[in-house]
Amino acid sequence: YEQLPLQQNKKDEIAEMTTTYNALMHRLEDNYLKQQQFVGNASHELKTPLTVIESYAKLLQRRGFQNEQVAYEALTAITKETANMQDMITQMLQLASVNENVEIASSQTNIEPLLQEIAMTMQQAYAREVRIEGNSFMLMTDAAKLKQLLFIFIDNARKYSDQPITVTMTDKQIIIEDTGIGIPEKDLPHLFERFYRVDKARNRKTGGTGLGLAIAKELADLLHLTIQISSAVGVGTTVTISSKDVMIHE
Ligand code: ADP
Repeated sequence: YEQLPLQQNKKDEIAEMTTTYNALMHRLEDNYLKQQQFVGNASHELKTPLTVIESYAKLLQRRGFQNEQVAYEALTAITKETANMQDMITQMLQLASVNENVEIASSQTNIEPLLQEIAMTMQQAYAREVRIEGNSFMLMTDAAKLKQLLFIFIDNARKYSDQPITVTMTDKQIIIEDTGIGIPEKDLPHLFERFYRVDKARNRKTGGTGLGLAIAKELADLLHLTIQISSAVGVGTTVTISSKDVMIHE
């Protein structure tokens, strides 16, 4: 009679362990499936440019020696597709390296200089203006990773619009606005999926990979940031980055 409570304890313990074990197995299975899907998608995505390269190389071999125009076209296409493959591989490696085991080097970071560095790159590399507005603030974060994340969103704003980009710093947020093509509502929930692109055919011209936002999501999780995207087709896109941690005003 006296041992009964002890037995109950043991039962509870076993039940708890079983729950933990099941949850762990579930997570492992989930990770495994995701990994498999990634490998499948990755090989498919890499095969596409490779097929294009192969067909242009064959064309070059057949007709390139007699016809300079054909040779020029083939080499241009090969160069473009090669660059696209390189981007994809770089981003795949980035995705693989951003996981929960990655080290975070946090320090008090002033937001404005990070944005200015990106604005300078946009100006120099693409002659695109980035207007920085609002009041800077300090954030305890990994500056390099935050810059990487901000760059992804600002670079998307550049790719999918042709007007100046506005970045506003407020109390607890960084808001990136473009007046570009916008994103249909039905696509919004899928943007952070790996290889997801709204319009593959049209987007192939801009040379994207569909991995940028997947990387941004991983970085945001690491840095305790939340991302909110609102958009209207033909009007533009607004990305709001908020910190879950407390921010200190300059
Ligand atoms: P990509 O390399 O194709 O740009 P991302 O993962 O960065 O890949 O973005 C996924 C898709 O979301 C893009 O292909 C594009 O269709 C859409 N997208 C992202 N940002 C914007 C934006 N600012 N305006 C319009 N569409 C966007």
